[in-house]
Amino acid sequence: MNPNFDTYQLTDEHHAVRDAVRSMSEKEIAPYAAEVDEQERYPREAFDALVKSGFSAVHVPEAYEGQGADSIATCIVIEEVARVCASSSLIPAVNKLGTMPILLSGSEDLKYRVGSSIASGETTASYALSEREAGSDAAAMKTRARRDGNDWVLNGTKCWITNGGESSWYTVMAVTDPEKGASGISAFAVHRDDPGFVVGGKEKKLGIKGSPTVELHFEDCTVPDDRIIGEPGSGFKTALATLDHTRPTIGAQAVGLAQGALDEATNYVKERRQFGKAISDFQGVQFMLADMAMRTEAARHMVYVAAARAERGEGDLGFISAAAKCYASDAAMSVTTDAVQLLGGAGYTRDFPVERMMRDAKITQIYEGTNQIQKMVMARSMLKD
Ligand SMILES: Cc1cc2nc3c(=O)[nH]c(=O)nc-3n(C[C@H](O)[C@H](O)[C@H](O)COP(=O)(O)OP(=O)(O)OC[C@H]3O[C@@H](n4cnc5c(N)ncnc54)[C@H](O)[C@@H]3O)c2cc1C
Repeated sequence: MNPNFDTYQLTDEHHAVRDAVRSMSEKEIAPYAAEVDEQERYPREAFDALVKSGFSAVHVPEAYEGQGADSIATCIVIEEVARVCASSSLIPAVNKLGTMPILLSGSEDLKYRVGSSIASGETTASYALSEREAGSDAAAMKTRARRDGNDWVLNGTKCWITNGGESSWYTVMAVTDPEKGASGISAFAVHRDDPGFVVGGKEKKLGIKGSPTVELHFEDCTVPDDRIIGEPGSGFKTALATLDHTRPTIGAQAVGLAQGALDEATNYVKERRQFGKAISDFQGVQFMLADMAMRTEAARHMVYVAAARAERGEGDLGFISAAAKCYASDAAMSVTTDAVQLLGGAGYTRDFPVERMMRDAKITQIYEGTNQIQKMVMARSMLKD
């Protein structure tokens, strides 16, 4: 691992994006966040607001009729939406996850077709790597794809697919040559109208309840040859390269959750009085707030550094992307838990958003690779010759 101390610089444009997304999120997303969680329903208002304001998929390059925002701007969008509603932040985050394999390795035709439909807000994209028996060990997947004339025919079941059922486009990893292990896996762009594509059951979850997590069944699902993403056998490499670019976005979601909880807790402790004074006057409370703010800020910087290095096209993104996601998600879990503590009994009720933020934060330590897997990625990068 080469030491690289290059950091990042926020431009006026980045600050303007933050202001615009914060204002839109507070007005048009926050008012529905509790209801979306309670009713476990898709945040339709958030989707409409994100599309109307042009923030649902800012990462899509201009060549494919997108806005071509850089990786830091994309993180800022996700962070600011997550500050008020983590479920809604998965709309821009998973749009990047679902399209990144195509943007990295797909044909120009596929990039345009999928990229332009996501950029316009016509639909969303999802990413289908995991299976029930192949989570951390994703290369153990069983979903198969075989050639049939000018088509590919997919069979198998993917699970845990975020925004499945809502999205029209799915990047699906499947085994095309079982003899070759990970080098026998290929990636495909599957459309929900393709014959044999079936959306299965929805998971009942601890958090991010507004974001559907579903099974996808492929029952002789037939896609034309031009929907393979890159060369046959390159799919697993593309899937991992995608995660190098998108783990910072999960870090950004975690930073947003931490910031949202910190803001709630800071407001509360100034108002709440015990022992004849505001509880913010107690040093024990002040030290908790300072620790929470310190962790949130450190996580934010790490996420932006990872995003900037991805944007610069640096080769060895494994360590920094994994570290940013791991650090930020641990920070989010600790900060949201402390926020519940600072609100006391009120924090444990659904009258305040911090308990939702704590439940939502947990998933950031699990998806796009658990934090144990992030540590494996980091160590591998550190120990390689
Ligand atoms: C809400 C939600 C949304 C998701 N969205 C998507 C999605 O959109 N697309 C998609 O493809 N997947 C998605 N996933 C799947 C997610 O990425 C996996 O759940 C995750 O990678 C872990 O896999 P697993 O659940 O099989 O856990 P397992 O791999 O069974 O892990 C169980 C435990 O063992 C630990 N462990 C496993 N192997 C090792 C090891 N070698 N060393 C140390 N510890 C280890 C893990 O860290 C974990 O603590 C989602 C999951 C959830 C819950």
